[in-house]
Amino acid sequence: MADTWTRVRYDQPLPAVARITLARSEAANAQDYTMLSELNEAFDAAAQDETVRVIVLAADGNHFSSGHDLRGPSSIDDLPTIGTQCHFGAGGAEGYMAKEAEMYVGLCWRWRNIPKPTIASVQGKVIAGGLMLVWPMDLIVCSDDASFSDPVVAFGVNGHEYFVHPYEAGARLAKDMLFTGRSIGAEEALQHGMVNRVVPRDQLESATLDLAEHISKRPMFGLTLAKQSVNNSLEAMGMYTSIQSAFGLHHVGHSHNRLMFDDSLVDPAGIQVIRDEA
Ligand code: ZN
Repeated sequence: MADTWTRVRYDQPLPAVARITLARSEAANAQDYTMLSELNEAFDAAAQDETVRVIVLAADGNHFSSGHDLRGPSSIDDLPTIGTQCHFGAGGAEGYMAKEAEMYVGLCWRWRNIPKPTIASVQGKVIAGGLMLVWPMDLIVCSDDASFSDPVVAFGVNGHEYFVHPYEAGARLAKDMLFTGRSIGAEEALQHGMVNRVVPRDQLESATLDLAEHISKRPMFGLTLAKQSVNNSLEAMGMYTSIQSAFGLHHVGHSHNRLMFDDSLVDPAGIQVIRDEA
């Protein structure tokens, strides 16, 4: 599989640590369906390799990820499906909702539940769908130039599809991010518990691997049980139901836009709003 990937790289920088790297820096690591499918295969490879105890998700270039690449050439019809979603070609809201359930919410939830510790290693901008790669990871190490935003209220939707903002950033900061569309800097993210460590840019890789190595030497089953216990606690707080509820509202937004703006999934005026604010 790995030798056919065009959007991600896979290596093992330490004996018990797998590293998956977003390798589309010429497009600020914008995610098309091909990248998401390759990421899923890479996570599966790391999960099933018994020598791997910790998984790192990193990115080439100046920016971790600029979000979803809606104009990318890849079609869901050419890719293996992971979950049990279907009817991708259906008209109206049905087909598009199924695609987003499969490729966005479904994959994020799947990666969030891999029974090995995962660490995101983040630099530069993380915009909208970029957060959907960072937040499913267990720990987040970022460089001091990292920033995080979800400006898609400008498009007439609530936020990106994996709606865990209140759980990851806290309700107050989540509303601030969504209402204003502004970027949260690394230090502010640290203050709110949204990331674990902030380091100088030139120390990002070493700090991430030091943390990964430390964790990798601890008992594997204990790590798995600890992860599942924290994840189960979040689910007891309603995390999964919250995501599904917000996903329904997200599709009310998409459908409203289609009715109002000549079948466009997003309010086209929002693109100019985001450009003006950038
Ligand atoms: Zn959407």
